[in-house]
Amino acid sequence: MLVLFDRKINSTLHRVTMTCDPDELARAMYMMSTNATVHIGITLSAIVVFIATSHVCRQIRKDLAQLTVIVIGAGPIGLTAALLALRCKRVTKLIIYEEESRARLEKRSYQIAIQPQHVSFLRGCGVDFDNLEGLWEDGCFYTRVGIYLGYIINILQLYKKPVDFNFSTKFSRDLSACVDSISGRKLAICCDGRNGLASRVLGLSDESIHHSTGVYGALAAIEKNNETYVPKSEIRVHNVGFDLSAYNSAAYEDEGKSKFNLKIFGNSTCRFLALAINKTDSNVVKTLRTVLDKSMMRNIFLKCFNTYKRADEASISDSFCLHHMRFSPRLYEIKLSQRAEIAAYIADCDLFVITEGEASRSYNFNTGK
Ligand SMILES: Cc1cc2nc3c(=O)[nH]c(=O)nc-3n(C[C@H](O)[C@H](O)[C@H](O)COP(=O)(O)OP(=O)(O)OC[C@H]3O[C@@H](n4cnc5c(N)ncnc54)[C@H](O)[C@@H]3O)c2cc1C
Repeated sequence: MLVLFDRKINSTLHRVTMTCDPDELARAMYMMSTNATVHIGITLSAIVVFIATSHVCRQIRKDLAQLTVIVIGAGPIGLTAALLALRCKRVTKLIIYEEESRARLEKRSYQIAIQPQHVSFLRGCGVDFDNLEGLWEDGCFYTRVGIYLGYIINILQLYKKPVDFNFSTKFSRDLSACVDSISGRKLAICCDGRNGLASRVLGLSDESIHHSTGVYGALAAIEKNNETYVPKSEIRVHNVGFDLSAYNSAAYEDEGKSKFNLKIFGNSTCRFLALAINKTDSNVVKTLRTVLDKSMMRNIFLKCFNTYKRADEASISDSFCLHHMRFSPRLYEIKLSQRAEIAAYIADCDLFVITEGEASRSYNFNTGK
C-alpha cells in the first residue's frame, strides 16, 4: 500500500515539474519578492512615522508640562510654596516677588508654631529642623518667623534651578504685564497675606464669602519690651469660667455655665491671649458682648494670664496692663472670610493663578486697636 502511494506522489511531482514554465516561475518569484519588499517598506515607514510622532508628542507634552512658577509674597506660606515648586520636576524657573527687603523679612519677630504633622511633611521636603533655632514641645516646633523665612531662602538658593528673587518689590499691575509676557506655561501663586492685592491684579475676583464659625471670641496682646526674645510653647486651657459679680448681678447668676477656651501663645516679648466660647446667650456671654466696660475685659485677660501663665513667667499688674496690653473691648463673633475665587486659568497668556495662605482666607481677629 505504502509503495503504491509513494509512486503516485512521485508521478504527480514529475508531472508538475514537467508542465512548469520557467518564465512564469521567474515572474512569480519576481512578484513575490516585489510584494515582500513593498510590505517591508510599508512596515518600516509605519515604524518610522510612529517613532517620530511619539517623539513629537513627548516633546509637546514636555513643553506643556514645563512651568515657570511666580510666587507673590515671601511670608511662611509663599516661601514654603516656593520650596515645593522647586522640588517639582516640571518647574523650570521660579520667580519670587516680596514687598519687603530680605533683611526686614529675616528680622520679623512674631512666633510661628509648626504642628507635628507639618513638621514631618516639611522634613520630607528637606527642611532640617536640627539646624533651625527654636523650641520643641509635644512634637510641635516654635520659632521666630524671620528664622524660618531666612532658612528657606537659603535652601532655595541651593537648588540648581534658577530662582529670581525680587525683594523690596511690590507686585503691581506693571509687574502683572511682565508675568503675562513670560513665554510658556506659568503658575502664579498669590501668598501676599490677608490684605494682598496680587490675585485681583492677576484677574481673580475680589469677592469674599463670610462664614460664621459659631464662636464668640476676644484677643489680647501683651508687649513685654524689657524681655529678650525666647520662643514659648502654647498653653491651652478648657472650661474657664468668670465671676462677673462685681460688674453685673445678672451675669453672676449664670456663673459656672459659660465655659471658655483659653490659649496663651507667642514669644516671651509678645504674649497673646485668645478666648473663645461656642455661641450661647448665657448671661455672662450677653454681658461680655454688650457691656462696653473696657475694665471688665482687661481684668478678665489679666486674671487669665496670671492664673494660667507659664511657671517661669512673672505675673503682670493692673498698671502694666494699662500701658502694655491691647485687647478686644468685648466679645465679638469670629467670622471666616474666604475668597469666592481661589483659582483661574487665563488662556490668552497660558497663566494659572491660585491664592494660598492668608491671601485666600482669614479671620476677623480683633485686638481693639
Ligand atoms: C503679630 C502676629 C503674631 C502671630 N503669632 C503666631 C503664632 O504665635 N503662631 C502661629 O502659628 N502663627 C502666628 N501668626 C500667624 C502667622 O504669622 C500667619 O498665619 C502667617 O504669617 C500667614 O502667612 P502668609 O504667608 O499667608 O501671609 P503673611 O505672613 O502675611 O505674608 C505675606 C507676605 O506678602 C508680602 N506682600 C504683601 N503684599 C505684597 C505685594 N503686593 N507684593 C509683594 N509682596 C507682598 C508681605 O510683605 C508678606 O511678606 C501671627 C501673625 C501675626 C501678624
